[in-house]
Amino acid sequence: MGRRDILLGTGRETGGAPLIPLTLSQIVAAYAAGPVVALLLLSLGGAWSRARRASRARRRRIQCAHCGTIYENFSPEPLPRCPNCVQPNERTAPSSV
Ligand SMILES: [Zn+2]
Repeated sequence: MGRRDILLGTGRETGGAPLIPLTLSQIVAAYAAGPVVALLLLSLGGAWSRARRASRARRRRIQCAHCGTIYENFSPEPLPRCPNCVQPNERTAPSSV
């Protein structure tokens, strides 16, 4: 705590100690760090959301092992059928997309 720091509160209520033990420089640092932390959290949340969306899209995309058709399937069935050749396919990521 430097000489130019101002302690908040009068101290009358607590017998000489400041009511809020924060200095002006600590308050300024908190105001400066708040938006930085908020932007960091928003950025991390956005990255997490994008990764989750991409993972879901990869899970829905299926490449037929018989005819090579790439299609999306939104049903929960384990072996969805290809819309082109009607053969059942496992849910594996397409080889080149
Ligand atoms: Zn097929």
